[in-house]
Amino acid sequence: MGNGRFAPSPSGDLHIGNLRTALLAWLFARSTGRGFVLRIDDLDRVRPGAAQRQIADLAAIGLDWDGPVVRQTERSGVYDAAIERLINAGLTYECYCTRREIQQAASAPHAPQGAYPGTCRGLTDSERTAKRAAGRPPALRLRAAVREFTIVDELHGRFTGLVDDLVLRRGDGTTAYNLAVVVDDADQRVDQVVRGDDLLSSTPRQAYLAEVLDLPIPTYAHVPLALNETGQRLAKRDGPVTLSELIAGGQTAGQVLETIAASLGLVGTTSHAMLDTFDPRRLPTTPWVVST
Ligand code: GLU
Repeated sequence: MGNGRFAPSPSGDLHIGNLRTALLAWLFARSTGRGFVLRIDDLDRVRPGAAQRQIADLAAIGLDWDGPVVRQTERSGVYDAAIERLINAGLTYECYCTRREIQQAASAPHAPQGAYPGTCRGLTDSERTAKRAAGRPPALRLRAAVREFTIVDELHGRFTGLVDDLVLRRGDGTTAYNLAVVVDDADQRVDQVVRGDDLLSSTPRQAYLAEVLDLPIPTYAHVPLALNETGQRLAKRDGPVTLSELIAGGQTAGQVLETIAASLGLVGTTSHAMLDTFDPRRLPTTPWVVST
């Protein structure tokens, strides 16, 4: 049996909706006899000190994990090796497009929604040399052989989504999120991915990338997000939404956990007690509207 995981980006404190996703990931993993690993996706969007606070908040609501916390910034060698395999297999190309050029091309008539249109896919050697001489550092893209890919999600069923020539390494040398996540999940023996349903649309890309790298494709469960009362994604601006803010307002971590559990129809006052009655088939399928 493999592992489940939670993989926050340390861009700020976790809010109550993020904590709910983490609890769900933990319950899915532990209720199926899996291990649970924690990874900090810190390749970008890093706020100093946020990772430490995220780790402390997860422990405070009763989550535990196996092994050390993994940080993506310590794993560049592993990503480079995976990218090297794709380069050697002839499955990559350099892309010199700016963000603006991509936006323009992607908004052209008949362009598939949100897909990179493959502008640099067929560059000749001399065109590439000219672009390089112009001084623009290229991103590296996957030469995808499909335009869509189907995954199976425990909550959404079969889901077919777009696959384009996704970025593997950005022009500034940073490993791209999709590549890092796919390589890490395989390395950490993650065979069950539970995360917010805002990431469902990038999942076909990731599953396809796993297939190309000859890595196992995990099972997926994309869970509903938390929204504020006006239907936007819950965020800091919505008032006291992080554990420390709620504690400052007089609640205990245990009470915050109970609020989250109630929103999921779960019984129990501790994370471990909730395991007894956790049933993924009875989870709410609509967003959690949080009033603050
Ligand atoms: N680090 C990503 C985020 O916080 C999530 C990655 C994942 O769950 O696959 O948005």
